[in-house]
Order: sequence, then structure tokens, then C-alpha cells
Amino acid sequence: MVVAPLLRPPGPRPPFQLPVSCGETWRLGTYPGHDDFDVDLFPAEGDAWGRPVLASHAGTVTVAGINGSLGGRTPDNPKGPRGRGGGYWVKIDHGGRWETQYLHLLEPPLVRAGQRVAQGEQLGRVGSTGNSGAPHLHYEQHRGREKVETWFDGVPSGITDDDTEYSVTLTSGNCPADRP
Ligand SMILES: [Zn+2]
Repeated sequence: MVVAPLLRPPGPRPPFQLPVSCGETWRLGTYPGHDDFDVDLFPAEGDAWGRPVLASHAGTVTVAGINGSLGGRTPDNPKGPRGRGGGYWVKIDHGGRWETQYLHLLEPPLVRAGQRVAQGEQLGRVGSTGNSGAPHLHYEQHRGREKVETWFDGVPSGITDDDTEYSVTLTSGNCPADRP
């Protein structure tokens, strides 16, 4: 006899913050073919390469590794061979069936699967591994098995579909005072 596990309903939305340093301003965008709800982050000022990527909320790392293939895009060779998929990436389980994903990191993640992370803890650095045109952070929030609209600091981002090119500019509230 096979017993199917009952799926718990998702819990309330965790108070996610932008996955970048406190006080920095970033442009969050999407474009046709990107996939609904997916967000690409580019700094409003300065170079994207190597910027810290932070946990949006406390949780447990479930994946820290390579998705697809890395390719060869580095700060010294930004137009090097393009990889496939997410490149170096991290997935965090926040409990209540909520999850966040961080893709195209520059180097192997600074965290490992099974590790507990605090809000604002550094996961890696912004890069262009995997299927990435330019250095940026690809970011997703998931509820249960579905991608959902990203919210930051209690506010929906407005990035809900990939029908048209669209972007918003936000300042990170991922600040030490918010950490538990
Ligand atoms: Zn993306």
C-alpha cells in the first residue's frame, strides 16, 4: 500500500527583503521570454560584477551548486562562452513552503546545502555564469510549487508576467537592524 504524503498548505509570506546590500538602489526588470514572475537585478550605479548577494530572509539552504553549465563569462572575459541554465546558484527554504532562488553567481556559493542562514547573510557574489547575457542576479520567490510575484519590504514588485519589457527601481531594506 502506498500512502501519498499530504501537502500542507503554504504558510504566510515571509517578510522578504531585496537580496542585495542595505541601502543600495537596484533596477529590477523582466523581458519577453524570461518567464512570469522572474526578476533580473542590475545595480542602478556601478559595476554588477562581484556585488554581494544576500539571503532575502532567514532559512535553510537546500541547493548550493551548479545548474546547467557555467560557461566562461568572467570580469576579465565578459563576452566569453555562454553557459546553460542558472550557473552557480542557491536555493533557500524559508519554511511554510516558501523558497527563494539566486542564479548566475560569479563563483561557487559561500554557503552549502543544509546550512542555516540569517536574513542578510551573504550567499555569493553577482556574476554571469550559466545562460546570462551580462552580469546580474536572477531571482525568484516560490510558494509551494509555484512561482509568485516577488514582494520586498512588504510591497509587491509589480513584476507579474513577461509579456513586455518592464522594470522598477528599488532601494534595499536588507539591513542589519531587520535581522532576527
Ligand atoms: Zn533572469
